[in-house]
Amino acid sequence: MVDLLKDKVAEALKMYREISSKALSGEIEPNPPQNDYSILDLLASERPTFQLVNPEDPVYVSSFRLLRWSEPVDLGQKTFNIVLFTAGRVLGENAVEHGLIKNLDDLVEFALNQRLGIYDIVSADDSSVVINVYESISSSGIPNIGRTVCHFERGFLTAVFSKLYKRRVTVEETHCWGTGYSFDRFEIKISDVSV
Ligand SMILES: [Zn+2]
Repeated sequence: MVDLLKDKVAEALKMYREISSKALSGEIEPNPPQNDYSILDLLASERPTFQLVNPEDPVYVSSFRLLRWSEPVDLGQKTFNIVLFTAGRVLGENAVEHGLIKNLDDLVEFALNQRLGIYDIVSADDSSVVINVYESISSSGIPNIGRTVCHFERGFLTAVFSKLYKRRVTVEETHCWGTGYSFDRFEIKISDVSV
């Protein structure tokens, strides 16, 4: 099963790298904004690689997303984004503290095993890392709703890189399904400040 997933991921990466580079160069237009969408649009995932390995993939993705989109009106979107960020951060901290993620290869493997998404390290040096995420559990398949949605992932990546580099880091999601792209892209800035 694991080997099947790895084979399929290798194939998928070729396709996704092509799609993302065309989107970044402007050769492919982003999906147009969609003003009228329902929770069903947000639950519908597009994860052909994961679904190939497990046909029930859309089931647990929609369970995850029901929680993801349960923004209580009283709390407000901004506060709920912080809740999601914190949940991701706790996961990232624990994954590093328990030795599940010791380097970038482990991060890719962990994300795959936990079905968070297909993580693709685009570039990495001492001061910045760029990661594309394909088939994300949070976002893949959602319409262009005019905002990035992967706050759980931002928190997760913030914690992982902060722990691995022992530096203060900031993570920005520059591209997202929520803003019309068919992938997510994160820019991780690693500061000189030790933590
Ligand atoms: Zn996203």
